[in-house]
Amino acid sequence: MHIAMVSAECAPIAKAGGLGDFVQGLARELARVGERVEVILPAYDVLRFDALERPRPLGIELQVPFGGESIVCRVLGLSLDGYECRLIAPNSTHGFFERGRIYGEPDDAERFAFFSRALVEYVSRPESRPDVLHCNDWQTGLAPVLLAERREALGRIPVCYSLHNVGYQGWVEADLLARVGLDAARLLTPDRLADPGDPRRANLMKGGIAAADAVNTVSPRHAWEIRNTEQGMGLQSWFQRYDYKFGGILNGIDEAVWNPLTDPLIPANFGPECLERKALDRQALRARLGLEEAADRPIIAIVSRLDRQKGVELIAHGIRYGLNAGAQIALLGSAIEPAIAERFARLASTLETHPHAHLELGYDESLAHLIYAGADMILIPSLYEPCGLTQLIAMRYGTVPIARRVGGLADTIRDANHSTAPFESRNGYLFDEPTTESLETAMDRALGLWRDFPEYFSRLRLNGMRGDYSWRRPAREYLALYAYAREASGVGASTSSRM
Ligand code: ADP
Repeated sequence: MHIAMVSAECAPIAKAGGLGDFVQGLARELARVGERVEVILPAYDVLRFDALERPRPLGIELQVPFGGESIVCRVLGLSLDGYECRLIAPNSTHGFFERGRIYGEPDDAERFAFFSRALVEYVSRPESRPDVLHCNDWQTGLAPVLLAERREALGRIPVCYSLHNVGYQGWVEADLLARVGLDAARLLTPDRLADPGDPRRANLMKGGIAAADAVNTVSPRHAWEIRNTEQGMGLQSWFQRYDYKFGGILNGIDEAVWNPLTDPLIPANFGPECLERKALDRQALRARLGLEEAADRPIIAIVSRLDRQKGVELIAHGIRYGLNAGAQIALLGSAIEPAIAERFARLASTLETHPHAHLELGYDESLAHLIYAGADMILIPSLYEPCGLTQLIAMRYGTVPIARRVGGLADTIRDANHSTAPFESRNGYLFDEPTTESLETAMDRALGLWRDFPEYFSRLRLNGMRGDYSWRRPAREYLALYAYAREASGVGASTSSRM
């Protein structure tokens, strides 16, 4: 089956968070089982090729209509791990993808609306037409709408739409719809793209959900939450309306990238059979962050975008509480929102000379690896969490999660004390309410076990390390979803025999 995945991110060349990991991990696994996979991305100026081959022009030129202009886009290609990557490079004075970053620009809506429009031109070419198009998040929510509107000319391309973060729905002014050639007056109605909160604006995610053939979010628990609680962020009834084509598939992690036995970014490789070597990474982490060597203090890590979603208040509280309770703190966090960035910059400077805390503000892939390897616990107090990869990565590296019982965190972490699961599958600590008291109780339980029952704490680490977080199961579930999308769109069952 020819699968085209379209996204704003794909690790390692364009990653800002978990979406990048998702696309890379799923694409690689689908390619591994023999599918033909193409990942389509904007040709950002910040793509990171490192040791990879440089992209080559494919001799494809797209004429992309946009607000009365016709913008020429070149398509570049490079081969990644078994799959192909296509980069859409517009030649225009807008400089849509020449901003020195992936997101965070005032015209993000316009940038990604343009990208979706260009994508539709690309898949409209008979040579590029996929058997299924897999769109992701608000940035590509317009693509299913554009394809549905051009169905008469194009025929049907089955579309699967994955939602990784319902907190960002792509709210745009109506005139943007007209700029990509859509009939704004007809589409800006409550049963189409009009945002439930502000019907004068279009909601791209809402449009994508209606137009796609199959829709999913990235964990079963979160699929339930966004249908039935305020976590649907205003789209609850929309999810209920499209319940028949909506589900949850838990993410995997890329086990080639995240494997403590082979990870080239950590000084000492280790695994369940040689867990004692983790101590060398702990030592290296302390040296890297200027933390004092202290055998009686566990390291509590935070590796996160510093965003309200991630529970920034609870993170700040957890840092103080952890320090008072005799732990060390290693935070790696990147903030886009200025108020949050300033707040953590202040906290970092207050703690600058603290022997047991270091806050590194920014995005640093290799430091992230060292933190997962060297830390003892990781704090994930998210307000909502569609799936969450940090807990999976941490568990793989023998770092025990202390997390809020929401979304994918609830689906993947089994509490050390309060779980019906056998001890061998318990792997962390969960708390329910997003309050400081609730967080403290979970931290106390984790720190208590670490201090008083180190044997049991090691077993928790091992339970986590032995879990299966690979992309094998999720990839099979996505193939089933693609088959469903093909059937639902009337194109017919999948051409793949690997269901
Ligand atoms: P989200 O996608 O909401 O940011 P996830 O838990 O799904 O959260 O995925 C986060 C991914 O981004 C993980 O791979 C994590 O290691 C990485 N990450 C988050 N913040 C940073 C950072 N500041 N530096 C390096 N990697 C980070």
